[in-house]
Amino acid sequence: MFQFKLVLLGDSSVGKSSIVYRFVKNSFDEFRESTIGAAFLSQTIKVKESDDGEETVIKFEIWDTAGQERYKSLAPMYYRNANAALVVYDVTQQDSLVKAQSWVNELKNKVGDDDLVICLVGNKVDLCDEDAEDNKRAVGTEEARSYANEQNLLFYEVSAKTGLNVQQIFQSIGEKLFETK
Ligand code: GDP
Repeated sequence: MFQFKLVLLGDSSVGKSSIVYRFVKNSFDEFRESTIGAAFLSQTIKVKESDDGEETVIKFEIWDTAGQERYKSLAPMYYRNANAALVVYDVTQQDSLVKAQSWVNELKNKVGDDDLVICLVGNKVDLCDEDAEDNKRAVGTEEARSYANEQNLLFYEVSAKTGLNVQQIFQSIGEKLFETK
């Protein structure tokens, strides 16, 4: 079986652990204690082989690196040898996009473009309602998408709370990794 190492990076509280939890357990727990240190989980998905339509199972080894915001010097240990990185921001916090962009720069400088599939992920879209008076969106979809395009990143807006698009992140990373393995 093909195995790929995937790391999560981003500001604290953007929902990194919740995204992993949604993907692996298909649930959301508002009161789950935040991870201390690094949590390690694995999950398989099926990808389609392009020519004959046959399915292949690949396995993600997921490194959820809690505390990296405080212990930034430890981050290289996590992303070394990674095949994919989710760089997560919170669509209701403009600062968190700036932080995400600095992670993208660091990854490109230290790991290099060719060796890593990077996906920019805007989480908490359930808090956005363009028609509501209390719409909490602070980062526009097109702003983030055009940055992602420029940098050649995959891009998704998701909600770990409702599950919107969470599976799709891993599916498209998996397919891209499988294509270029
Ligand atoms: P991390 O520090 O990046 O791992 O973030 P957590 O996964 O611990 O989440 C931080 C906080 O945001 C928690 O209170 C979560 O319940 C909340 N949260 C995470 N994802 C979502 C989401 O998609 N929508 C909403 N409304 N809240 C979320």
